Amino acid sequence: MIIQRVVLNSRPGKNGVPVAENFRLEQSTIADTLQAGQVRVKTLYLSVDPYMRCRMNEDTGSDYLQPWQLSEVADGGGIGVVEESKHDNLAKGDFVTSFTWPWQTAAILDGDLLQKLVPQLVDGRLSYFLGAAGITGLTALLGIREKGHVAAGANQTMVVSGAAGACGSLAGQIGRLEGCSRVVGIAGTDEKCSILVQEMGFDAAINYKKGDVAKQLRELCPGGVDVYFDNVGGDISDTVISQMNQNSHIILCGQISQYNKDVPYPPPLPPDIEKIQKERNITRERFLVLNYMDKQEASVLQLCQWIQEGKLKVRETVVEGLANIGAAFQSMMNGGNIGKQIVSVSK
Ligand code: NAP
Repeated sequence: MIIQRVVLNSRPGKNGVPVAENFRLEQSTIADTLQAGQVRVKTLYLSVDPYMRCRMNEDTGSDYLQPWQLSEVADGGGIGVVEESKHDNLAKGDFVTSFTWPWQTAAILDGDLLQKLVPQLVDGRLSYFLGAAGITGLTALLGIREKGHVAAGANQTMVVSGAAGACGSLAGQIGRLEGCSRVVGIAGTDEKCSILVQEMGFDAAINYKKGDVAKQLRELCPGGVDVYFDNVGGDISDTVISQMNQNSHIILCGQISQYNKDVPYPPPLPPDIEKIQKERNITRERFLVLNYMDKQEASVLQLCQWIQEGKLKVRETVVEGLANIGAAFQSMMNGGNIGKQIVSVSK
């Protein structure tokens, strides 16, 4: 059977900025017959995520991420529908997902490595299983629960960087649901800031590309910052940490501002900021959602319930067509997305 697939065409270099041309669309084939335990799936949705930047390097710099190989198919979070099955628990028409879905229009996969999805949990909006009801939502929820020390009634102020992105937009809302009394976002455009406040219930949002972030943060968080959900690192985080309270907490989710640089993860703080962190006893522990997958099932149900109740507002930026996945990745890394960046493959 003839399929389309996307392979890694070139590496951007450890200190380079990734571009769409780092990926290449090509035609390929998959077998016409299945072995026992296999399923043939049609791809519906693929996820593009910042961590993929590390997979574009020869050495990802992390023990849990494998590098993509040149001229080999890329992979990541994906959703599809089973079209043919030789697996005991999967049937034609089942919707399934995997963290290692190949970037191709159809594939033959080992059924044991797929998770069956229940579309009713998200009112049929299947792509949510890659975002708010998937690893992104889990990252926001479990990051806050495991590292945020949020307590209802404690009058805590939370600041979220990368706030209009996939994790950030959920983290601010979940911070509120879990008990924070004030939530302030930091994002890269006025439109994003407006959506955070008007749609997602943030108390305020700062466009970090305009004006003095430190000054605005002082005005918007007069009692200081108790919880910082950090998606970006770098200057923005140094500014936030400078305004954090004694015994406060950083949720070290990601450091996207550093991903095009050859630095260790997590990148060390500048000496003056590290001094503040130590003197004020601010926790900054590494958080990796994959370490908490024993909590996946209950947490996904919680996220789906909030979505169905309208308590968690979800935004997606959907790009049509496998051919555009490289451009979608480039755009997300440059701030082109609001909420989760999804590639719809079926159309
Ligand atoms: P995302 O925020 O949806 O997309 C990336 C966004 O980051 C862009 O839209 C852009 O928005 C912002 N950005 C890009 N370069 C920036 C820079 N130099 N400075 C400030 N902001 C910049 O991505 P996501 O999927 O939600 O991931 C957010 C973070 O969480 C990433 O660091 C990711 O690696 C991490 N993550 C961690 C885990 C975990 O287990 N710890 C799991 C998933 C994701 P602006 O317009 O605001 O610049």
